[in-house]
Amino acid sequence: MTEECAAHGWSCSPSCGSGTTNAREIVKVAAAGALLGAALAAEHLALLPPIPIMALSLGSLALTGLPIVAGTVQGLLHRQRNVGELVSIAIAASLIVGEFTVAAELGLIMAMGEMAEEYAHRRSRRGIEAIAADTPRHAFVIRDGAAVRMPLSGIGPGDRVLVRPGDVVPVDGTVATGTSAIDESRLTGESVPVEKGPGDAVYAGTINHDGALHVTVLRVGDHSAYGRVMQMVREAEERRPPSRPIIDRFAAVYTPVMLAAAGAVWLATGDLQRAIALLIVACPCALLLATPSAVLAAIGVGAGQGILIRGGEYLEACTRLDAVVFDKTGTLTSGDLHVVTVAPFGGRTVEEVLELAAVAEAGSEHPVARAVIDAAHDPEPVARAVEMRLHPGRGIEARSGTDRIVVGSDRLLVLTGIPLSGKAAEIRDNLAASGITPVFVATGDEVVGVIGLQDTVRPESAGVVCRLREEGIGTVVMLTGDHEDVACRVAAEVGIPEDTVHAGLLPHQKQEYVEALQNDGRGVCFVGDGTNDGPALAQADVGVSIGSREDTVALETSHVVLMRGGLAALPLFIRLGKKTSQTITANVVFALGFSFAMMALAGFGLLSPAGGAVLHQAGVLIVLLNSSIFAGRAIADHPDGRKKQRGFERTSDRFTRS
Ligand code: ADP
Ligand code: MG
Repeated sequence: MTEECAAHGWSCSPSCGSGTTNAREIVKVAAAGALLGAALAAEHLALLPPIPIMALSLGSLALTGLPIVAGTVQGLLHRQRNVGELVSIAIAASLIVGEFTVAAELGLIMAMGEMAEEYAHRRSRRGIEAIAADTPRHAFVIRDGAAVRMPLSGIGPGDRVLVRPGDVVPVDGTVATGTSAIDESRLTGESVPVEKGPGDAVYAGTINHDGALHVTVLRVGDHSAYGRVMQMVREAEERRPPSRPIIDRFAAVYTPVMLAAAGAVWLATGDLQRAIALLIVACPCALLLATPSAVLAAIGVGAGQGILIRGGEYLEACTRLDAVVFDKTGTLTSGDLHVVTVAPFGGRTVEEVLELAAVAEAGSEHPVARAVIDAAHDPEPVARAVEMRLHPGRGIEARSGTDRIVVGSDRLLVLTGIPLSGKAAEIRDNLAASGITPVFVATGDEVVGVIGLQDTVRPESAGVVCRLREEGIGTVVMLTGDHEDVACRVAAEVGIPEDTVHAGLLPHQKQEYVEALQNDGRGVCFVGDGTNDGPALAQADVGVSIGSREDTVALETSHVVLMRGGLAALPLFIRLGKKTSQTITANVVFALGFSFAMMALAGFGLLSPAGGAVLHQAGVLIVLLNSSIFAGRAIADHPDGRKKQRGFERTSDRFTRS
């Protein structure tokens, strides 16, 4: 039994929460088995008198049963409900009636069952551990001109590290010298390697292809983007499922009721063996594991596919989803905007307009800002701007010298009281009609230019929308702060109907839209990139963000992050969630049915205490196996799941083994 049951204040044994099965545990169980084997052989073949047989049995019990009883007592002292109570009472009752070998058998079977459970649990955690293991723990640090291999714990911001071709990048940092293509697919889902050179940012966990790089360290370990994500998954594992109050109430009633039932059986039949068998099969271990084992298995399988899930409740929510709401920029589109046209006014040149805009945009992380700064070729725009003020979903306002600079949508012009000329409005409409996002640049109270930016629709977007409909999602919506015409063009390209496109929205309006759907009784999944959609991500029943290189804000506000698979992994996640709920239901039905059947058998005297212990552990194992098999199948059944898995293995094989 592991952390899950401890988190419920329940445990079946003292090893609850104690971590991994180690060699010592195996030796102990083997020794207990040998002692009990000797006792049973001596008893059946009448080789020894009763006293040595009792001694052998008690020796075996000391190794296996004693920890169970000790755990129960400890649990009671800490006022924790403890299902081990039932086993402990059964062991004590066996000893009282002189059934020493039966008591030892109970202890041994429980201990063996726990080892098997540990094993099954560790298997289901493998997906998570696999990505954790992929992050390097060492790096080559440049010290006195030579590269020295050092553990990451000895490296800090400002150090310089060497990243060889084929290496996994060990830290977040900036390229100091060298150029190379970097595979960032594990962070962003983007399969095309990105060319990096001096000044470019690189991220831990990405794979360096062909060139050697010197990287100046910014963040290491848990502080890196990759480390933060790993932390998030670990937290998800530790989080207890939301059903806790029910289980707590259940605990307070269950044990006394079962004790009473066993007492009644004893009184009615005079057969203590039956009562003991009933107590053993009454331990609700399988039922307690029904939800956490399915959730843990699904989180593990998801992690193996680059889908990071913050907690079981988001998997369970998938069954209730009937609306998926997409953000546009950076979600359905790549968010890699570039400037395609600049219309200058009032005697300004194209360069002047871009330069003005870049000065203001230096304070923004928005894709528009990155594109404008790129186009302006201004290496240090930030040096000249002061007093920057961001208007999320509208644009940015800054002061440079005595001038005010305003860069953003027409709604920002309204907000800042800058009049929009007929000519500027005409250019805006023409750009938008051809799918180009218009951004106004104004200084003082005058619009001095319109910049046209273009984005590309992600190649997988249309397929994802189509697959969501196959998964039974009736409503697919697009929300954006962009111009309506641009929005409709993207929507048409990905297959979202025009009447579910809402443009010109501010971040809080996106959130209100999600809330309105929820008030209509809908289960809503919001998919965004974290730029100007944080409130909507948090509001949704399931907030899914597309993994990005630097945007850790998205990681913190969203419930699910699609890392390696990118947007294409969304239907896979929903499928995994639905399968998980089905698995939980199947587990609960089985655990209840099996438990009642065994109790009936025990009550009618058809099950011995030792047989009850075996069946009880078998029930637990069936639940654990069911969980891990179903989670695996959700992925295997899904075309995207297998494809992505193979593709990834190929890349990592090629680049991490050199
Ligand atoms: P989306 O909803 O499509 O992701 P946003 O809400 O991020 O878009 O932005 C909406 C609009 O606001 C953009 O199309 C742009 O016109 C304007 N905008 C937002 N941020 C900026 C900025 N930093 N610079 C200029 N314009 C901006
Ligand atoms: Mg966005």
